[in-house]
Amino acid sequence: MAALEGKVAVITGAARGQGLAEAERFIEEGASVVLTDVLTDAGAAEASRLGPRARFVGLDVSVAGQWAAAVALAETEFGGLDILVNNAGIYGQHPIEQLDEATFRRYLDINLVGPFLGIQAATPAMKRRGGGSIVNISSLAGLHAVPFASAYTTSKFGLRGLTRAAAAELGVHGIRVNAVFPGVIRTAITDAVLDARETDIAAAIPLRRVGEPDDVAALVLFLASDESRWITGGEHTIDGGSMA
Ligand code: NAD
Repeated sequence: MAALEGKVAVITGAARGQGLAEAERFIEEGASVVLTDVLTDAGAAEASRLGPRARFVGLDVSVAGQWAAAVALAETEFGGLDILVNNAGIYGQHPIEQLDEATFRRYLDINLVGPFLGIQAATPAMKRRGGGSIVNISSLAGLHAVPFASAYTTSKFGLRGLTRAAAAELGVHGIRVNAVFPGVIRTAITDAVLDARETDIAAAIPLRRVGEPDDVAALVLFLASDESRWITGGEHTIDGGSMA
């Protein structure tokens, strides 16, 4: 049997990059997927390319009122919700002295409050299914500081705390919550830096290459599936050995 046969997932930030790779992998493994993103044209196009077990709905994860429609779509179109991947995120570098308060709060809103709103929206639907799996995409910046990225680093450390707190609280309902900490992955976030310095970056990684979205999708698939049924509150690095 395929790893996600009969499961229904909502993935945020799924119009491109890692979220899209996860949607593709989940569908290959038998799941139905609601892709969500603020990039509505790209998201809708990808969902129609992925076929009858994919839908798209526009969702800005930082806006509480937009979450209900994504969860409702999973339930009305596919019969329930088993998996939430809180993948959407923004990255940027700003020296602390020049980082204005509104920008700092924007990182927290998207990278941390967004996953909180998602957990809150998904929990009742997962309880109706008798359990579920939530995967929060943090970053190595949730384990060590990235210079000049204090807002991003703070948001990703916060997501680590939210993961543990939610895992501790929701386990009684059969809802597992895990965090994933990717190293450098080739997506729009890293395009510019990899164009300039990929050889040097790869040389500093024990496995001697940067990551691809599919590498992360394989780990997220495992955490989403019942194969990881006794794993919750976990912190899973996927970084070619960088943290070693
Ligand atoms: P990406 O920019 O290709 O994907 C991020 C997606 O999130 C985009 O589709 C974007 O439109 C969407 N998004 C942004 N703001 C949003 C909002 N308010 N609501 C909904 N969607 C929104 O980059 P990616 O690398 O695929 O990023 C996925 C996740 O992985 C992010 O959380 C990122 O922080 C994390 N991450 C990336 C790397 C890396 O090296 N690429 C490393 C560690 C962690």
